[in-house]
Amino acid sequence: MSRIRIEIHGIVQGVGFRPFLHRLARRLNLTGWARNIPAGVELELEGPGQALEAFRTALTREAPPLAVVEEVLVTPLAGSAGYTDFAIRPSAGTGGDTLICPDLAPCPACLRELADPTDRRYRYPFINCTDCGPRFSIVRDLPYDRARTSMAGFVMCPDCDAEYHDIESRRYHAQPNCCPVCGPRAFFLDAQGKEQPGDPIALAQAALAAGQIVAVKGTGGIHLACDAGNDEAVLRLRRRKNRPDKPLAVLCRDLDAVCRLCLVSEAEADLLESPRRPIVLLQKRNPAPDPLSANDRLGVMLPYTPLHILLADTSAGGPDTLVMTSANLSGCPVMVDNQEALRGLAGVADGFLLHDRPIQNRCDDSLVGLWEGQLCFYRRSRGYVPQPVTLPWDLTGLVAMGAEQKASFAVGRGHHAFPSQHIGDLKNAETLDHYRTALDRYLTLFGVWPAAFVCDLHPDFFSTREAEARVGALPLLRVQHHWAHMAACMADNNLEGKAFGILWDGTGLGTDGTIWGGEFLTGDYNDFERRGSIRPILLPGGDAATVEIGRIALSLLTDAGLDPGDAPLPSAKVRAVAAMLRQSALCPRASSMGRLFDGLYALIAGCGKTSYEGQGPALLEAMVRPGEPGRYYPVAFALADGLRVFDTRPLVRGVVADLHRGISHAAIARGILDTLCRMAVNQCAVLNREKYPVVLSGGVFFNRYLLTGITRRLRRAGFPVLTHHRVSPGDEGLCLGQLAIAAARLPRKGEQDVSCRSAEDPLH
Ligand code: ZN
Ligand code: ZN
Ligand code: FE
Repeated sequence: MSRIRIEIHGIVQGVGFRPFLHRLARRLNLTGWARNIPAGVELELEGPGQALEAFRTALTREAPPLAVVEEVLVTPLAGSAGYTDFAIRPSAGTGGDTLICPDLAPCPACLRELADPTDRRYRYPFINCTDCGPRFSIVRDLPYDRARTSMAGFVMCPDCDAEYHDIESRRYHAQPNCCPVCGPRAFFLDAQGKEQPGDPIALAQAALAAGQIVAVKGTGGIHLACDAGNDEAVLRLRRRKNRPDKPLAVLCRDLDAVCRLCLVSEAEADLLESPRRPIVLLQKRNPAPDPLSANDRLGVMLPYTPLHILLADTSAGGPDTLVMTSANLSGCPVMVDNQEALRGLAGVADGFLLHDRPIQNRCDDSLVGLWEGQLCFYRRSRGYVPQPVTLPWDLTGLVAMGAEQKASFAVGRGHHAFPSQHIGDLKNAETLDHYRTALDRYLTLFGVWPAAFVCDLHPDFFSTREAEARVGALPLLRVQHHWAHMAACMADNNLEGKAFGILWDGTGLGTDGTIWGGEFLTGDYNDFERRGSIRPILLPGGDAATVEIGRIALSLLTDAGLDPGDAPLPSAKVRAVAAMLRQSALCPRASSMGRLFDGLYALIAGCGKTSYEGQGPALLEAMVRPGEPGRYYPVAFALADGLRVFDTRPLVRGVVADLHRGISHAAIARGILDTLCRMAVNQCAVLNREKYPVVLSGGVFFNRYLLTGITRRLRRAGFPVLTHHRVSPGDEGLCLGQLAIAAARLPRKGEQDVSCRSAEDPLH
């Protein structure tokens, strides 16, 4: 007999790790105990040396799907402790160390039962176990047990209850455990909200097959679905949802169905099949615009709940590729409530596939892609939240409020930053409400007592106002938008010391009171210096110009001394906007790369309007065709008050001259992107002589051509380059930078007491 102590570090809490240890110890006839500690899990084991060895091997090999075992420390102990069984002990340390698991797709064992006609959960849309199923979306409060989840109203039947208490069962202490006898049920309602008799899944499939639009309630919200292979249905959905251009995500029955639509690498297949089930951005087989996506990429996901698996299963008939787009009224958060859906989607949905398990935490689908073989986030939400991002600093009690348009917040506890799910644009009252509720929920679930707040410099952001309303006597730090972007990318890479940032986005308030967005900064988490930018663009009508991008085109033409008649606007509008520009009335200045892209896209495409933020940069990228000959436009700089400013005028003149010469749009689009890559590298070479690591952040870096072009050129020139992998480069990821800056700038006095909310659930 031997005795050992094991400490396991990594993501081993809130992922079913202790039940796993429990089962493993029982299987190998080992005795002892396990408990959560702040760094992970600690256990003591007693038994024959061979069994202990087997335990260590199985520990990493059989770990639950979401567990990340980073380090296993084994210490031999002297003598026997005389344990007679294996026990789960209460957590050690300051408490408040609970992590909550994200919502997970069904595990292989549950999938087998779902398809087994002899199983009591055959075709049951809510099958789950300790390895899979809903988590974050159903938790209301801590400790995580059934009474504090959406399952509170469902009393387990004797069969389920027996599983719940059986240590050998996969459903031992699985809080959402249920079956057709005792659990939630799905139902299908017609357009009038009347429940239809029959199998709800089959009814929904028939409606979809007939080209109808069906609202489908998932884990974190309600989707609108239609047959992705039926162009007419897709266009009808676009019309009814008032979403003319923005790409739609598609849910595919299986990988084969994905491969029919897109090119899929092995790594992308792994990502699609991971239990997190994000929407993965893939290259379309046919890059031409289609009703699903106007560019060459398509967001695709595999079914992420048993309900979606049954729905997309064509063995019962019906389409195997479905458009899945969030059901929301324009600008509002995704719907979660049945009654709300029936009211709000009248005239939009032809039928409703709903269920009676309430959604506690609204959570949209995540959108990810692979770049240089590594994960990058466009939206970090379902399947990823509320897992933390680990940072090298103590973040306890820090609350970062994020920006406004793609708002998200982050709260800190120990070395963990907990970024929120995707929230949306706070200018919408319902979204602001969602933001407030979600923040309260995070503070509760992670036992965080605010010690300081950090927000954007912009005084009118609703996130700033919310910080002011909550801060009381606590410190409030206001952080310049692009500095926060820079710090976010530094923190994303655990970078200490100084960095050079290329921060390109739509807009953010600068320290000089003007709008920035094409920035080159040097700095660290304590301070920064603005070194370079781009020539400010006048935005006629301010916000109106971000929708009517023809106005920006006109502004660029006027600035470059060209004929305003080339702007894609009706001539009366041209005259009116030109007059605004002459008088500089209602024309804020923005040194914004996003707006420059919008204006250039409008010029090339002859398109005066966009329907969604970021359309210009995305569509300009989509115009580029492989094999198109390269071209460069002139790159010129001016020095103003120590700031090295890229002069956009020679670029605009070159583009317009090429348009008049009939050069292909693909060649011009590529020329613009290559020119901007060259410009970025030139700025870096001149402004970053110290060769600080270069961080790339801001929403413009969703444009992969730019991301790749700048990264490769900089690396060739000998600069280390860091990009985002744990949070989005857009404003959604900004809160991480705010948190890192607050950790550096706000040394908190003494330890905050975070132990008050750590009531303990021994398992999970
Ligand atoms: Zn399972
Ligand atoms: Zn049951
Ligand atoms: Fe931004």
